[in-house]
Amino acid sequence: MDFNKTEEQELLLSSLRELVNRHLPDDYMRKCDEEHREHSEFYKILVDNGFGLLGLPEKYGGTEVDTTTLILVAEELAALDAPTMCDKMLQADDILEFGSEEQKKIILDLIKQGKQAFSIGISEPQAGSDNNAIATTATRRNGKVYINGHKTFCTNADRSPYMLCLTRDLESNKPPAQSISMWLLPMDRPGVRLEPLHKLGMGYTSTFEVYLDDVAIEEKDLIGKENMGWLNLMKNLETERILTAAQCLGAAQCCFNDAVKYANQRVQFEKTIGSFQLIQEKLTYMKIKLENMRNMVYKCAWEKDNGQSIKLSSSLCKLYCAQSAFEVADDAVQIFGGIGYTLDCRVSRLWRDLRVYRIFGGTDQIQIHVAGREILRQAAKAM
Ligand SMILES: Cc1cc2nc3c(=O)[nH]c(=O)nc-3n(C[C@H](O)[C@H](O)[C@H](O)COP(=O)(O)OP(=O)(O)OC[C@H]3O[C@@H](n4cnc5c(N)ncnc54)[C@H](O)[C@@H]3O)c2cc1C
Repeated sequence: MDFNKTEEQELLLSSLRELVNRHLPDDYMRKCDEEHREHSEFYKILVDNGFGLLGLPEKYGGTEVDTTTLILVAEELAALDAPTMCDKMLQADDILEFGSEEQKKIILDLIKQGKQAFSIGISEPQAGSDNNAIATTATRRNGKVYINGHKTFCTNADRSPYMLCLTRDLESNKPPAQSISMWLLPMDRPGVRLEPLHKLGMGYTSTFEVYLDDVAIEEKDLIGKENMGWLNLMKNLETERILTAAQCLGAAQCCFNDAVKYANQRVQFEKTIGSFQLIQEKLTYMKIKLENMRNMVYKCAWEKDNGQSIKLSSSLCKLYCAQSAFEVADDAVQIFGGIGYTLDCRVSRLWRDLRVYRIFGGTDQIQIHVAGREILRQAAKAM
């Protein structure tokens, strides 16, 4: 087993570190969180320096890399408390694979400017974990397509010119794999109404209820084939889980680094708090969790790069990393004491942000469902 990074990966990560050190002001992430601003300036810097289109096909100006390299970049950026674009790239990849030439051009032009190209409209009030319950419809009338429905938790809906909107053919009574379509819905059309949701963390993103009332779009706004939207969306799902896990790992590493530094500095009872064994115990278990997370993320990426199925391992990885990263952040808050509970302290922001990873991208319980079913299937197959 070779845990060494390749020379190219080492070079890539060192230039990434240099880029972050040079361009990311110390208080950038805190300010974006406080002022509810997206990281667009830094995304532009990433794009201009070749990191923004990482993972996208070369024919679209991207840099094709393996999954291991992609997760190393996501981990590194998160560990440096810098914005990562890697998850956005995977979503764009869906459009580049299934979209029309016109749609590809629109999306690429926006990404290359470091802009948010589209939001994701999957969740609805009655359809959270249960995608089967999606009820937004697309109806044809007088040469137009009319979208009606209610999307919820739509991240950055106000900052994105488009929404990747999922609709369901309710009349067909077919399962999601055969009845969900994907549309590139322009957000400036009459009938689109937004209402903000106010979140606990991730202040740099905005989140909205989106009401779609007879929104007229064109036939050409369909992405890929009709009723194949769900299958298209599944293309990158497992890789997205590893990427999410890598971001959790990086953020947890950042919390750990801050906590170790503070434990060596903060003096109580005339000693650094790091000299108390109860604090050392916390640091030790935090380190074990980081090692476990890293091993799972890297192995899963290796499996993907070597053509092995990651259906089980990507779910286990997302579940474990989302939970463990939050536990590491929570211990970091404890080590910081009162300061850890203030908004000035980085670990408090990461603690708030990390909590959501156990909810979006498939909740803990949904990962257990996927993993549980796969464990039983694999065992039955082996018998
Ligand atoms: C900050 C944030 C950003 C988001 N961004 C987007 C976005 O951009 N686009 C988008 O489409 N969605 C987005 N979401 C929505 C997210 O995908 C959903 O919140 C998630 O899928 C869970 O759905 P739900 O909130 O309706 O919870 P529910 O599905 O109602 O679940 C509630 C609880 O029940 C559990 N549960 C549900 N079903 C089962 C089961 N079968 N067995 C056991 N337990 C179960 C869940 O695990 C959870 O604990 C976002 C959410 C958040 C919080």
